[in-house]
Amino acid sequence: MIQKKIVDLLIIGGGPAGISAAIWAKRLGLNHLLLEAQTDLGGQLTDIHNKIIDYPGMMVENGLELQKHFKQHAKNIDFNFEIGKVVDSIDWDEKVLFTNKNTTYEFRSILVATGSSPRKLRVPGEQKLIDRNEVYSASRDKDKFKEKDVAVIGGGDRAFEGALLLAEAGANVSLIHRSEQFKARKEFKDPVIYHPNINVMTNTIVTEINGESRKQLTLSSNDSISTIAVDGVFIRIGVEPNTYLFKDGISLDDEGYIPCTSVGQTSLPYVYAAGDVCTRPLLSSIASSVGQGMTAVKCLSFYLND
Ligand SMILES: Cc1cc2nc3c(=O)[nH]c(=O)nc-3n(C[C@H](O)[C@H](O)[C@H](O)COP(=O)(O)OP(=O)(O)OC[C@H]3O[C@@H](n4cnc5c(N)ncnc54)[C@H](O)[C@@H]3O)c2cc1C
Repeated sequence: MIQKKIVDLLIIGGGPAGISAAIWAKRLGLNHLLLEAQTDLGGQLTDIHNKIIDYPGMMVENGLELQKHFKQHAKNIDFNFEIGKVVDSIDWDEKVLFTNKNTTYEFRSILVATGSSPRKLRVPGEQKLIDRNEVYSASRDKDKFKEKDVAVIGGGDRAFEGALLLAEAGANVSLIHRSEQFKARKEFKDPVIYHPNINVMTNTIVTEINGESRKQLTLSSNDSISTIAVDGVFIRIGVEPNTYLFKDGISLDDEGYIPCTSVGQTSLPYVYAAGDVCTRPLLSSIASSVGQGMTAVKCLSFYLND
C-alpha cells in the first residue's frame, strides 16, 4: 500500500551536510524529514579509514568514530529521519517525491545533500569486484597486499597516496593512468615516480577486469593490447556527484554538480543544495559540508516562513 506523508522540508541524504541541516531544521522548528538511502546515517564518513585531523574540536582515529559522534548528536537533538529510504524520483510539478519503499512525500522545499560517489571505470568485470566487496582502502588494507601485486588506477592525489601507502607496505604496485599528465599534488609525485615498488604506466587504459582471486586486467596503450595479473585493484579515478535524480528539475553543470549561490540556492527557489553534491573534491570537506547544510536550512526557513 502506498503511504503518503506531507513535509515542509525534505532533506535528501544523511551525510555530514544532511545531518547538520537536520539539526538546524529541528532547532528552527521546521516540519522536516531527512531521508537516507543507507541503513545508517554518516555518508562517506563510513569510508574514511585514515585519521581525521581537520574537523575542528575533534581529532578522531577514523570516520566511524566521527560517525558515532554525529549519530549521538542526532539522537540527542532528536531530528526526524528515515533510513533505508532511497529517493527514486521526484515529480517537480506536483512537488511529490517517491522512495523505494512505496512511500510518497508531498513537500514545500528540498535540501539536496546526496553527496558524491567514487567514479567508476565502467568496464566489464568492475561491477563483479564491487559485488564481491573487493573495494579496498589503501590505508586500511595495505598490509593484506604485502609482497602481492596490485593495480592502482588514476593520476590524482588519492591514486598517488594509495600507491605510496601500498608500496611502503611492501606491495608491487602498477600505477595505471590514461594520460601523461598527473593531477596529483607535487609532494606525492617524485616519491611515487621514483619508488622502487611502483611501476608507473602512462597513456594506458584498463578495458576489462577478469578473474577472482588473481585478476587479469586488459590494458590498451597506443593501440596495443596487453594484460597484467594482480591480487588487488584500487580504482581511484575521482568522484562524481549523486545528482542523476535531479537532472529534470534543477540545473546541473557540465560535470553534473549543482550550481548554487553562496547560500546554497539552486535554480529553483525552494530547492537548496549542500556538501559534495555542489562542491568539487578540491574544496570539499566534512567541515564545509556541515557549514553549507546549516546555511542552506537557515535560508530555507526564511522561504518557508515567508
Ligand atoms: C576516503 C575518504 C577520506 C576522506 N577524508 C576526509 C578528511 O580527512 N577530512 C575531511 O574533511 N573530509 C574527508 N573526506 C571527504 C568527506 O567525507 C566529504 O566531503 C563529506 O562526507 C561530504 O558530506 P556530504 O553530506 O555532502 O555527502 P556524503 O557524505 O556523500 O553523504 C551523502 C549521503 O546521501 C545519501 N544519498 C545519496 N543518494 C540518495 C538518494 N537517492 N536517496 C537517499 N539518500 C541518498 C548517501 O547514501 C549518503 O549517505 C574523505 C572522503 C573519503 C571518501
